[in-house]
Amino acid sequence: MPDRQHPRFPGQALVIGAGVAGLTAARVLADHFERVLLVEAGALPPVAGPRGGVPQARHVHGMLARGASALESLFPGLQAELVAAGAPLFDHGLLASTTVAAGRVPRTPGGVQAHAFSRDLLEWALRRRVAEQPRVSVRDRSPVTGLCWDADATRVVGLRLADGEVLDAALVVDASGRFTRLPQWLTEAGLPRPEQRIVDAGLAYATMVFDAPARDFEALQHVNSAPDRPRGTFVVHVEGGRWIVTVFGAGGDHPPTDERGWLTFAADIGNPDLDELLASATPLDGVGVHAFKRTENRLNRYAAMRRWPRRLVAIGDSVAAFDPVFGQGMTVAVLQARALGEALARADDLDAVTRRVRRRAAAITRTPWLMSVSEDLVWQYHRERGTPPLWLRPALWYKRRLVRLVVADPEVFRTFLGVYHMVRSPTALAAPRTLAKVLFKAGRYGPGGTRHDGTT
Ligand SMILES: Cc1cc2nc3c(=O)[nH]c(=O)nc-3n(C[C@H](O)[C@H](O)[C@H](O)COP(=O)(O)OP(=O)(O)OC[C@H]3O[C@@H](n4cnc5c(N)ncnc54)[C@H](O)[C@@H]3O)c2cc1C
Repeated sequence: MPDRQHPRFPGQALVIGAGVAGLTAARVLADHFERVLLVEAGALPPVAGPRGGVPQARHVHGMLARGASALESLFPGLQAELVAAGAPLFDHGLLASTTVAAGRVPRTPGGVQAHAFSRDLLEWALRRRVAEQPRVSVRDRSPVTGLCWDADATRVVGLRLADGEVLDAALVVDASGRFTRLPQWLTEAGLPRPEQRIVDAGLAYATMVFDAPARDFEALQHVNSAPDRPRGTFVVHVEGGRWIVTVFGAGGDHPPTDERGWLTFAADIGNPDLDELLASATPLDGVGVHAFKRTENRLNRYAAMRRWPRRLVAIGDSVAAFDPVFGQGMTVAVLQARALGEALARADDLDAVTRRVRRRAAAITRTPWLMSVSEDLVWQYHRERGTPPLWLRPALWYKRRLVRLVVADPEVFRTFLGVYHMVRSPTALAAPRTLAKVLFKAGRYGPGGTRHDGTT
């Protein structure tokens, strides 16, 4: 347990960015530093509301069960607070309407809890809790424009702000998100540019928010599937009884951003639950359609760099930003912030913390990255060459059969949900029992989980 009266490290830790990664980082740093300053470029509203720095917050933000439990361990009582604010907590198998490429999944206990809230509510709850930490201060409207270095440019000693002010730091955490300028700041200091991997499914989101009566589900997922089913939707019933409805299209099949076009696109998805919801829904005044197109998977391979500055760590989207369809970003960010806390509790000095977090951040990223790009490479190849490469075809064949079982076999559905929520390893999808079903049972089912002999 950290000794909160006597922090281990003197001086100030600086965090760039007050998103989910930055807020959770500030929380763990507060246990170990004399002072923590969170520096945010945009304005932070005093209420749960939209803000400029995170345009993605307008869209459905599902928190995976793994991320929810990690957040709860850092902010005890958070889940209850969100529930009290009106955010439904429910069994994902029973109270989500789920449609995959093989059809609609029958409702059945899924064994994992899902929590539906707006990203604005989550950030606001985190901001308030971080502000309660006695040693943390937050400074908004303060864009960071560069790193400050020691004489031989091996150690980061502070940050430079847009107004020219320089802030000293014992440790700097970059949590400035998908569009981080860290690679550029590193090269400006004479370090090689980090290798960057980009896999782009050509996906765009467009979201509207509605007032609508309660339904017999709290969330709706209609997932797309490479390479022949580009469209899908995510819907959540959030605090205040509002429905956030995000529609999306991959492979360049983008939803329109005018209201009428958006509604036509939504109708074309062909999901009866979505159609019924929208038939009785009223768009919230003045919200309109919000679009987001920069959804490519983006990995900065900081851990592979031969030289890395002392006293600098990066977490969250700065390390890896994912295709949002998989809903992994916030969970990965929270797990990395927690790893930062563990390193601070264990390591003897801040150089060791830097080394350990760089390794752990990369390790935490690995599986989510593979899950995300294995699907998105198909879109990318499809766009560039028309067909997936030979080496991807066995995985596609396996996935198609597995997805039929997700519809037809509740046990496979539960395994799938566990993997999706990151509480089970993806290897569970190829464990002997599931593997046997995929090889010997899946062939009996067609679309919709219907047996080829007509029974279900
Ligand atoms: C459309 C979309 C939908 C998504 N849906 C989901 C989902 O369902 N589930 C999920 O888990 N994840 C989702 N994500 C991912 C999720 O938004 C991020 O992974 C998560 O917020 C962690 O990001 P972060 O804190 O690293 O960065 P961000 O949340 O982007 O925060 C970065 C912060 O840094 C600030 N900043 C940037 N530059 C500077 C600077 N120079 N100086 C000071 N401050 C700066 C920004 O203003 C911002 O506040 C989605 C992403 C997108 C794009």
